[in-house]
Amino acid sequence: MERCAPVLAARGRPCLNLKEAAENFRAVLDYRTLFGNGNPVELEVGCGNGFFIAELAKREPETNFLAVELCSNVILTAMERVLRENIPNVRFLNIPAEILACYIPEKSVRKIYLNFSTPLPGSTHERQRLTSPRFLSIYKDLLEEGGVIEQKTDSGFFFDYSLESYRENGFAVTDVTRDLHKSEWAKGNIVTEYERNFSSKGMPIYFARAVLL
Ligand code: SAM
Repeated sequence: MERCAPVLAARGRPCLNLKEAAENFRAVLDYRTLFGNGNPVELEVGCGNGFFIAELAKREPETNFLAVELCSNVILTAMERVLRENIPNVRFLNIPAEILACYIPEKSVRKIYLNFSTPLPGSTHERQRLTSPRFLSIYKDLLEEGGVIEQKTDSGFFFDYSLESYRENGFAVTDVTRDLHKSEWAKGNIVTEYERNFSSKGMPIYFARAVLL
């Protein structure tokens, strides 16, 4: 597991990175306390303004959703949306995905959504890509048996990189399209903020589903 640092997620507080003071920090969530029920849990990494997770949570009220976002001012917008719309089944973690294992119980997540994660094409940034072997190893610890990753991106390069990474790191790629909006999965697709932007410029949206083996 990555070395962990505590990050406070409450509104109005700064993010505290106490890495030096708190090696091996863990604050594993108790889902029953957090959500008030034992429904299955799904996770979005890099939720941005929260439009996707809010729409999904309204559509699937019997599922609990955790929205993870690195950037405090961005996650506030998402939190305000969920509060404004009175959506009961979404909670937020203002942390970098690198330390997910500090908070998420092992083998407790049914699905992980990666929507328009930054492609980071430079080879020196490979470790930071959210589908690199380093991150897939983190997700593998969190996902239930047969758990799923669903990814959308506008980047052909990042898409190809991710497909290879899934296949080489214990996932089976079960569904792939290089033009989601013209595919069989278009119906029911929730268009994210970035997706709307890319799509309005005529760019195709790449989509893949990978299942933990
Ligand atoms: N998913 C949203 C959408 O599709 O509209 C936002 C996409 S935006 C390009 C990527 C988001 O991921 C940003 O809000 C960024 O702060 C967040 N992010 C990037 N790296 C992250 C990390 N390591 N952990 C958590 N969030 C991260």
